[in-house]
Order: sequence, then C-alpha cells, then structure tokens
Amino acid sequence: MQMPIRHHISDQLLMAYSAGQLPEAFSLVMAVHLSMCDECKARLGAFDAVGGAVMDRCDVVAMDTGSLAATLAKLDMPVKGTPSQALPHVQSSLPAPLADYIGGDLSAVKWRSLGAGVRQAILPTDNTASARLLYIPAGKAVPDHSHRGTELTLVLQGAFHDEIDRFGPGDLEISDEDINHQPIAEAGEACICLAATDAPLRFNALVPRLLQPFFRI
Ligand code: ZN
Ligand code: ZN
Repeated sequence: MQMPIRHHISDQLLMAYSAGQLPEAFSLVMAVHLSMCDECKARLGAFDAVGGAVMDRCDVVAMDTGSLAATLAKLDMPVKGTPSQALPHVQSSLPAPLADYIGGDLSAVKWRSLGAGVRQAILPTDNTASARLLYIPAGKAVPDHSHRGTELTLVLQGAFHDEIDRFGPGDLEISDEDINHQPIAEAGEACICLAATDAPLRFNALVPRLLQPFFRI
C-alpha cells in the first residue's frame, strides 16, 4: 500500500501559484503535486476563492474588442504539449500534468549521465527557473550540496532520504539557502524526482563543482 503524502506545498507557494506568480518550472512542480494530492487541491481551492473575491472587488478593466477576439481564438487552439491521441505503447506512470508537459512517458525522456548512475533530463521552461527530471539508482546519492535560492524536489517514484527526512511518492521537499543535504535513494528501487531551482546549487565537493557548468544544475 502506498504511504500517504507527508510533505506538502507551503501556504506561501500555494498562494503564489494561485495568483499565477511562480516561474514556469515551479508551477509545473505545483501542478504535478496537486494532481497527486487531494489535501493541497482543497487548500488551493480556498486560496483561489480568496483571490477571486479580491478580483471581484477590483474595478473591471475594459477589454478592447481585439483582445477579446484574441482570447476567443486562443480557446480554439490545441493545448501545448498535449498529445493529440493516446499512444498505445505509452502506459503512463507519470502524473498527467507532467506527461502532457513532456509529451509522453518516461520512455520519451532523453537522459544525460551525471556520474555514478545518476541521470538528469532538463525540461524546457522559461529561464526564470529550471526544471529537470532526476533518476537516482537505488542506494545511490546526489552529491551533497546547499542552495543559492529555492529548490523544489517532488518524488515521482521510489523514495529518498536526506538530513531532513524521508521523501516518498508525492512528497515535496522545499529547500533554501539554510539547507545543506545529500539525497540518497532508498535501496531496492530507483528514485525518480521532478526538481526545480531558481538558482544554481552550491556543491560542497570539488568535482561536482567543476562539472556544474556542463550540467546546468
Ligand atoms: Zn499536498
Ligand atoms: Zn538540494
């Protein structure tokens, strides 16, 4: 039986997501966690209601007819990244928002080695923050590091533990400048995560630091 999700989106992040103020990479992580977590979905509903009430009290800004036409035209456009038909061989084990984003399942991902069996795939997002999939083989570790900004790590499969806690499927770790950690995948199953950062990580060992520019991590 799957363990319940124990690590959730903070109020601050949920509010920013509701207001549409997060970088694309962070919004993607939020959308994927929300698709896995009824608790956060309910909390988001509350924030959306508050945001809507604030909007209702604001003066209505007149839209010119051009922008209305443009909006209506957009409604007819296919949603970017949504597969037009289900591919029979793609038995998606990825949450829907992520499968839609990368246009397929894990088989559609182009992995690059980071050494020691750890792999990453950088996802296309705008450059305000970056998003990547991380594949950590069972029992292996990501080099220990601290953070220059915010790092969001959402477990999709398997589990890892670090100095903070254990993180299983659906769990979201929110790290900032104060956190130094070394995520280690649990024995038995590889851990696949979706991670987003708004600033480069700060590696403690020399080799990962030297390789950093090549991996854009
Ligand atoms: Zn949650
Ligand atoms: Zn980290």
